[in-house]
Amino acid sequence: MPANPFSCWVVATLHATLLASAALSQQPARHKDVLELVDQHAAHFSETSKTIWDYAELGYKEQKSSALLQRELQAAGFRVQASVADEPTAFVATYGQGEPVIAILGEFDALPGLSQTATPDRSAVLADAPGHACGHNLLGAGAALAAVALKEHMERNHVSGTLRYYGTPAEEGGHGKVYMLRAGLFRDVDVALQWHPSDVNGVTNGGALAMNSARFLFHGTAAHAAIAPERGRSALDAVMLMGNAVEFLREHIPSNSRVHYVITNGGAAPNIVPDTAELYLYARNPSSEVLKGVWDRILKIGQGAALMTETTLDVREVGGTTNLLPNDPLSKAAQRNLQEVGGFHYTAEEKHFAQELQKSLPAGAAGALDSTGLIQPLRGADPNAAAASTDVGDVSWNVPTIGFTTATFVPGVAAHTWQAAASAGMSIGQKGMIVAAKALAVTGADLFSDRQLVLDAKADFRHQMEGKTYQSVIPVGQKPPLNYRDKQ
Ligand SMILES: [Zn+2]
Ligand SMILES: [Zn+2]
Repeated sequence: MPANPFSCWVVATLHATLLASAALSQQPARHKDVLELVDQHAAHFSETSKTIWDYAELGYKEQKSSALLQRELQAAGFRVQASVADEPTAFVATYGQGEPVIAILGEFDALPGLSQTATPDRSAVLADAPGHACGHNLLGAGAALAAVALKEHMERNHVSGTLRYYGTPAEEGGHGKVYMLRAGLFRDVDVALQWHPSDVNGVTNGGALAMNSARFLFHGTAAHAAIAPERGRSALDAVMLMGNAVEFLREHIPSNSRVHYVITNGGAAPNIVPDTAELYLYARNPSSEVLKGVWDRILKIGQGAALMTETTLDVREVGGTTNLLPNDPLSKAAQRNLQEVGGFHYTAEEKHFAQELQKSLPAGAAGALDSTGLIQPLRGADPNAAAASTDVGDVSWNVPTIGFTTATFVPGVAAHTWQAAASAGMSIGQKGMIVAAKALAVTGADLFSDRQLVLDAKADFRHQMEGKTYQSVIPVGQKPPLNYRDKQ
């Protein structure tokens, strides 16, 4: 220990402050360089986003989309490690070496049944085929655009550190990132940056819902439903009792929980007592800890339904993601940068497209078209706000994480709709994608040049994790469900 630890602390603090102010004073030139580089590559990656939109591949089947992004990053000078974490379409692309290690997350999977042309009226490219209704074509290509521009900036300015693009498959229900975390691929990452398509421009500082999912498969005994019903034990009865019990449970769990389910197998014919039946269920809550309690009760309901009907229960394909942890120092830097980048405005043609598209929205849902030029104020996560779930949540429980949304969808359009798929396949979506790429790239540049920002992000992460332990609900040893889309 030094003779005077206080003076040592003063020197260290002063040193850190000087580093931070030096980093800030160089910020305008640094940002200008990065923004110009994004602009130079923007048209090319808009094309990339359109090609992935055309491919519209489902989770874990994104071979062409993943290969295209790998080729782009390799051509730009990244080293690509393909098929990681037992996921054929997952990859990690790396540039540079040493600390800090900054990750940019990319997704590229589509959604089933939402095939849609880039037109303002409902029209499938191919009936019942997948479509990019969550805009992950923009997400993956926009993140790659940010990574390529940031890499060129680093090379040009001799910036040290490691930049990684994570190609993360099957975000829509396949939990691709959870398996990548388990494979240790994020172990040395200092900060993870992410973005997601939306109808507003803002910073995402926490807020997604923790989610658990599973298939509850009941096994009974088949019998003729009229001649010998007493010999039968109905798996469908168990499914229906489970559904009913979940409805009663709703009253006695925190009201900001969500539980929803479908019957994926209800038997073959009314005159055969079903020997198998399956309920596929999701449960969500803003807090992973609260959700664990709710989930344990849902598992008991399943056991109770089996007991009542003399059937057996097989809980299969357990999946889950955590809520998204906030990071305050990162959120402030991200907000500053998004405001600096600014939003965008429609051309007359885009305005016409947006107005036509908005005619298909429910009354009162359409937002102001000029809101794409605005940046939302920085807000804390509201535990009562409607939200979705994402496996980025799991990353945020392991690594300081911050993200953006940008207005890639026409204002008022929600994700997972044909209107979102239409917006994601044309210039409106691409303009939003470029805003996101700029915000990601300048924030990445700040992290490489401002050591104090990385230290602050890590300190805030430790604070957020106090009293918490990351534990995925996915059983240890479970392999990625590569064929999970086949049954839907
Ligand atoms: Zn989605
Ligand atoms: Zn999504």
